[in-house]
Amino acid sequence: MKNDGSKPTTTDAGIPVSSDEYSLTVGPDGPLLLQDHYLVEQMANFNREMIPDRQPHAKGSGAFGYFEVTQDISAYTRAALFQPGTKTDVLARFSTVAGESGSPDTWRDVRGFALKFYTTEGNYDMVGNNTPVFFVRDPMKFQHFIHSQKRRADSGLRDHDMQWDFWTLSPESAHQVTILMSDRGVPKSYRHMNGYTSHTYMWVNADGERFWVKYHFKTDQGIDFLSQEEADRIAGEDADYHRRDLSSAINRGDYPGWTLKVQIMPFEDAKTYRFNPFDLTKVWPHADYPAQEVGRLTLNRNPTDFHTEIEQAAFEPNNLVPGIGPSPDKMLLARLISYADAHRARLGVNYKQIPVNRPKSPVHSYSKGGAMRVQNVSDPVYTPNSMGGPKPDPEHYPEQAVWDASGRFIRSAYTLRSDDDDFGQPGTLIRKVMDDAQRDRLVSNVVGHLKDGVSESVLQRAFEYWRKIDKKTGDRIAKGVTGT
Ligand code: NDP
Repeated sequence: MKNDGSKPTTTDAGIPVSSDEYSLTVGPDGPLLLQDHYLVEQMANFNREMIPDRQPHAKGSGAFGYFEVTQDISAYTRAALFQPGTKTDVLARFSTVAGESGSPDTWRDVRGFALKFYTTEGNYDMVGNNTPVFFVRDPMKFQHFIHSQKRRADSGLRDHDMQWDFWTLSPESAHQVTILMSDRGVPKSYRHMNGYTSHTYMWVNADGERFWVKYHFKTDQGIDFLSQEEADRIAGEDADYHRRDLSSAINRGDYPGWTLKVQIMPFEDAKTYRFNPFDLTKVWPHADYPAQEVGRLTLNRNPTDFHTEIEQAAFEPNNLVPGIGPSPDKMLLARLISYADAHRARLGVNYKQIPVNRPKSPVHSYSKGGAMRVQNVSDPVYTPNSMGGPKPDPEHYPEQAVWDASGRFIRSAYTLRSDDDDFGQPGTLIRKVMDDAQRDRLVSNVVGHLKDGVSESVLQRAFEYWRKIDKKTGDRIAKGVTGT
């Protein structure tokens, strides 16, 4: 084919190539020649195009935008990104949890809500969900939980029996399962859901005072959901329904936004609060800690290369900037380790040098070498040194001085507080927050789920689990499944 004046195709080394149609052969009908390195390059690249799925949160979509502070909350945090009037570039990635990268967006599942803020003091990541709580509170159970939600070892099938077996043997899951089975379990789109840190974090102000904080990104589009019937139909018609919605909205200039509100708890309250404020299966009731506004997140730019900018995006909750620290939530403390480890396994040790993960503020670290390092390091490559190399800042100390602890090294549940139990808060959600129509849909969603391959003994446990959350709801579910 004659070139019509278009840019000439090149190899990945930039060398012009003569044909994109014909491989190099001995005569028109002859065998292939091994020296056709251009053909070899194309086949070899193709074979290596896929990188491992995330485990979990494999199916996701993302976009870029900014976060703008609208209120003055500097009394609680010195973080540069939260100072009045500050505007910070952001990457957001939304996802389902259990499905693989091609799975339908409308399967009932928790949604990931991950944000990367490119702040002037380094990258700050929030790796949240569209729910304020989680299924387990100890990281020892996390791997088992995810196994139970994904595929069986024998048939490779997902299995509701496995899911309910795990949940009913893990009463701490009751709050999250209630939310999952409610309207929030299938949002209408990624634009129509909230995002929560779920975990409690610490904020530190300019005077070194410490506070506990939970974030709530409230959708400005309004909460909306799909019924189970709609979700099932759409799963067959358009597996990428939520991905398409997000990118179409941004393409037509209908930029989605979320208002960030925070609940702030004085540092000392945490010692005596009626719920363990670091237990990931609990919320802080708004009557105790009202939410106050911070600013607004807007998404206004789609990726230009989904692979480089979204698939290779690496969010890690250990990316905490001055003014923000972790809390003694055991799940959070484990995630501070496991996310970075997952990225090293999936993307390689130098994943922070991939442009989408690269901070916009300068990096002065002493790390060097490793596969696929693309930014040069310079001497000195050790510290302490007498060559004027970078030095740490002791001012960054308060964010790491999270709490005081002493005790024997043991494996144990958290110490219970006066109102800590697994069924109280989900019961409140059903009885006080949901209306009749929401309760009807909750029952219908659970009945449909339980009718799909759940064994008799697990079913009986599931009825008791729901009766403990709310007696009436449990009775209705039992009746819906057994017909009696
Ligand atoms: P409130 O009445 O002040 O808050 C109720 C909250 O429930 C609202 O934040 C609302 O979120 C949220 N909500 C409504 N429907 C659902 C649903 N189907 N699934 C999950 N959340 C829903 O009461 P409290 O603060 O005392 O909390 C009562 C119960 O509400 C809690 O036990 C918990 O189950 C649930 N909840 C509480 C949250 C909190 O941080 N306090 C956050 C989310 C849920 P929105 O306003 O965004 O629509």
